[in-house]
Amino acid sequence: MVSFLGEHGERLAGVARGIKKPTAKWVAAFEPLGLVRVTFFGKEQADLKRITRCDLLASPLTLGHLESSLVMACLADLFDRVAREGVEDERLYRLLSACTRALKTRPGQALGILAYAEHWLLHCLGLLPHPGACGRCGGSDAPLVLFSEEQGWCCAACTPAEGPGLLPPGVREHLRRLRTAPAEEAPPLDPADPAQQAVTALLRQRLLAELGGRLRSYEVLWRLV
Ligand SMILES: [Zn+2]
Repeated sequence: MVSFLGEHGERLAGVARGIKKPTAKWVAAFEPLGLVRVTFFGKEQADLKRITRCDLLASPLTLGHLESSLVMACLADLFDRVAREGVEDERLYRLLSACTRALKTRPGQALGILAYAEHWLLHCLGLLPHPGACGRCGGSDAPLVLFSEEQGWCCAACTPAEGPGLLPPGVREHLRRLRTAPAEEAPPLDPADPAQQAVTALLRQRLLAELGGRLRSYEVLWRLV
């Protein structure tokens, strides 16, 4: 069973017979994030269509770049879960295309590109409030210091200075970089930037929780990177 993200952002899936044999044709076409032209056979309503042809047009794979390959697997997992069969969302295809191009040109920034994709997937799912105004008091000047399930981003003007889950300074600025940069300029991972660390962890946890918890591709990524 192989799944695809269609050009209108819908999930497509079909059965590819015999691709586990080492001599199978099209094996390269089924690597995660490959851009392919695929032909299905089967009735419109058939639950399981058969893949009769699949041609690889482009791949973001950089041979020998482990981190980039692992991130490709994570992105494939994420988009496979966010996309829905029969539901078009063109933003998904645009986002995945942009991230794939960025991975090809900057494989060394793969983890930054993954965090960028996670941010925008949360946005596409409608789970990411705009960080411009505080969700509790409406203010737009004080630093954002908390993310709450009910009120979204909350600012320092209306939030007690001590308590669980408080975020370091720079959250609004990091969110602005994620919102305004194209995928090719996704903020590189910077271990010395506590705001980036906190936002990345928060958004990742939120996205994975929404998608049903742990993903195997992420477990492999953390074991090896
Ligand atoms: Zn506030």
